[in-house]
Amino acid sequence: MSILQIALDVPLPRLFDYRHDGDLPENAVGRLAKVPFGTGSRVGVVLGVVEQSDQPAEKLKSAELLGELPALPADWLELCRFCARYYHHPLGQVMAFALPPLLRKGKKPRPIKPKVGAGETAEGRRASNMETAPSSNAATADQAAAIDAIVKASGFQTFLLHGVTGSGKTEVYLRAIEAVLARGGQALMLVPEIALTPQLESRVSARFPGAHVVSAHSGVADAARARAFLAALEGRAAIVLGTRLSVFMPMPALRLIVVDEEHDASFKQQEGLRYSARDVAIYRARQRDIPIVLGSATPSLETFHHAESGRYTRLELPERAVAAAELPTVVTVDTRRQKLQDGLSAELIAAVGERLRRGEQSLLFLNRRGYAPVLACPACGWISHCRRCAANLVLHLADRRLRCHHCGLEATIPHHCPDCGNLDLQPFGRGTQRLEAKLAEQFPEARTLRIDRDSADSPKKWQALLAAIHAGEADILVGTQMLAKGHDFPKLTLVGVVGADAALFAADFRAPERLFAQIMQVGGRSGRHDLPGAVLIQTEYPDHPLYRALVEHDYTAFANAQLAEREGAGFPPFAFQAMLRAEARELKEALAFLHAAVSSAPTFAEVLLYDPVPMRLARLKNRERAQLLVESRSRPALQGFLTQWMAALYGLKTPRELRWHLDVDPLEF
Ligand code: ADP
Ligand code: ZN
Ligand code: ZN
Repeated sequence: MSILQIALDVPLPRLFDYRHDGDLPENAVGRLAKVPFGTGSRVGVVLGVVEQSDQPAEKLKSAELLGELPALPADWLELCRFCARYYHHPLGQVMAFALPPLLRKGKKPRPIKPKVGAGETAEGRRASNMETAPSSNAATADQAAAIDAIVKASGFQTFLLHGVTGSGKTEVYLRAIEAVLARGGQALMLVPEIALTPQLESRVSARFPGAHVVSAHSGVADAARARAFLAALEGRAAIVLGTRLSVFMPMPALRLIVVDEEHDASFKQQEGLRYSARDVAIYRARQRDIPIVLGSATPSLETFHHAESGRYTRLELPERAVAAAELPTVVTVDTRRQKLQDGLSAELIAAVGERLRRGEQSLLFLNRRGYAPVLACPACGWISHCRRCAANLVLHLADRRLRCHHCGLEATIPHHCPDCGNLDLQPFGRGTQRLEAKLAEQFPEARTLRIDRDSADSPKKWQALLAAIHAGEADILVGTQMLAKGHDFPKLTLVGVVGADAALFAADFRAPERLFAQIMQVGGRSGRHDLPGAVLIQTEYPDHPLYRALVEHDYTAFANAQLAEREGAGFPPFAFQAMLRAEARELKEALAFLHAAVSSAPTFAEVLLYDPVPMRLARLKNRERAQLLVESRSRPALQGFLTQWMAALYGLKTPRELRWHLDVDPLEF
């Protein structure tokens, strides 16, 4: 009798032993197996076959191998093991996360009729012998040098493709992918959450008409996702294009990984397995001994630091690819010297008016949705707050609701103050809806379009909005960062940045980095074609170094200044961090757990534990939350510490209601 060691989707860092009756196929490791567990059954992954179990043989239950599904390859299993080790997450849960839901249930997707063209198509085609539709443009000299370096790389090498907005980074990716496909390899291209649009999918498919391109993101239906996974696993899919979770696509002939907009926060998952897809992708490239390209106009400081130190190879595209396109002119408007009209300066209003006369588009960037962040009573000081979170309810006038942006709680707008009865409740502050209303009033003849998560709350609406902008059906766009990435609107020549100052003084040490990237990205939408573009930043701090660097288009100066500050303060990338978080019904329970965690921590000279503190959003959905930061100058020391510490933490007695997790390399504080 053989004993199978199986990884199951349970929150325990161990494998489970099961019996296998009858003949065992040769390659049992990596196969899915259905096993009885508790009162039901589960599907897990076989990770080992042994003769002996720690448990008495008669106690072992029997596993059923799911033979009709292909075995998962060894490098995929190892990738999951790495994530389990590095993020200190139970291996069975890592695998359950990495598998498409259908396979996790032990089901095989029904095949679809092959159809060649785009998206999930051309089942059965080999990845080799690819015809490609050549790009109509000759590569610029900078592009050619970058492509050449990537194509010539032998073995593992990390490239930072640092190119200004519109410099033709995508073209570099596509040509590097072309070279990989010509040699029969597979390529993986990761893009941020909202950058993965049908436009990008069709751009890639159109470029490789004979190739089987699959896309993978959370919006793909279960059956399609499972088919994409199998197509990648069986080597039929030549290109996998997807958001962070596609870093887990098994690809036996993987020869190149691209991470576009590598600085984007959506590559880090904020729940369950808190992995960074960019970092996992780098591990994977090393594991497979292949090149990886990290592309951005505003690289993360971690990546920039590695390029400075020479660990990553820097490739630069300092100019826009379209010959006639220049980088936009960036200016600040000092708003201390004038009275704003509903948040808009005379300069910005005039600039929008001029674009209207010329038949060009303007985009006003305000990273706050809703009408106003809070509704308040001037008589008694009442404000609209969420009863489940330590946060305000945001006023949404479009559908006349108050809404919590953290937990989704909704309420009707009160007709009078709930505390004192005052009828005159006032909105405070400004969101995209209010800006939209103001613009409609100021420019009644213009067609104004608002783009945020409310107006684009489904992929369908989002596509419709993008199509309307492309068709020139809007003169003024008002939007959040949804519009910042990847889009190319030929008639857009003005970007106005409104209400960005608050982020200059946020407590989070990463806030300036994010703000700089956002403004540079959104400003980069302007003047991408033959019309010159402008960016106008309204601020009370026109001399702030962050804005000065934006005016100068000087990412490098900004990055170096930030790195110097971080080095002085001992922040990443000069230190490595992990965050232990706990949530409970009462704050004191969460804090008590964290204090117990401190007491049970092993002593490591190089590892520093901070005091447990309430999280910035201390209450979310009626749960009180606290956190404990752990830091070290040495990654191996931190990892060694965490491994020992986690074993102790799993042994701590906790109140039934308490939940805790560890976040390695946290982005949110
Ligand atoms: P990025 O990803 O760097 O923002 P894109 O790859 O989207 O830039 O390219 C920006 C624009 O430049 C696109 O319209 C693209 O078609 C065009 N482009 C890219 N490479 C070239 C080239 N070599 N010659 C002319 N136009 C190009
Ligand atoms: Zn009141
Ligand atoms: Zn809430």
